Amino acid sequence: MDQDPRPAPPRRSLLVTDFDGTLTRHDFYQLAIQELLPTDLPDYWGDYRAGRLTHFEALRDYFSHIRADEATVLDVVHRMQLEPRLAECLKELDGAGWDVVVTSAGCSWYIEILLAEAGVDLPVYSNPGRYEEGRGLIMEPPPPGPFFSRELGVDKAGVVRKGLEEGRRVAFAGDGFPDQEAARLVPESLRFARGDLARALTEGGLGFIPFDRWSEVARALAAPGRGTEAVL
Ligand SMILES: [Mg+2]
Repeated sequence: MDQDPRPAPPRRSLLVTDFDGTLTRHDFYQLAIQELLPTDLPDYWGDYRAGRLTHFEALRDYFSHIRADEATVLDVVHRMQLEPRLAECLKELDGAGWDVVVTSAGCSWYIEILLAEAGVDLPVYSNPGRYEEGRGLIMEPPPPGPFFSRELGVDKAGVVRKGLEEGRRVAFAGDGFPDQEAARLVPESLRFARGDLARALTEGGLGFIPFDRWSEVARALAAPGRGTEAVL
């Protein structure tokens, strides 16, 4: 049989992005601590830092103490401030050959709400959950699968690795310590960081492109040559 003489279409590039603090200005977890949770809770975060709880367990335990009515919780979700130009940015990225997937160690309950309200449909790898008044935000680990992580729920680095194994150009954007492994896998010209991730990469002597708003990541990737120089 003759081989198809047409060249294979070029593989689309892949932007793997964190959600809380990256696609949004603020983390749901931090807003919840400030506005929804009593101050006398056990120090789950300290237990996580000491290795007594996983990151997933610490978040799950905090979220389970939320007792506000759902409207109040949704108000806090909206104050996370999703990137206002998201739909437009995704169109520009799509046109430039980039697919986008969200990886989050937070909860898909608020992620799906914000993405749906923005009218965008993105693959989301996160921890499933639901809000039940009286029981709080119930976050569960994702089902077993290639991107399951006992520590975070979702193996962000695994999502990056799969894209690389497929021979795709992969970029990563994040803002937190749990983003480090994924960020280290991509070249510095495609590694976008702010917040704790930026500080950790700087301490490790690793280059990255700083950003303040997610639209800057989209702009840099959709227009190669503009703003894609790494800093050290
Ligand atoms: Mg984050």
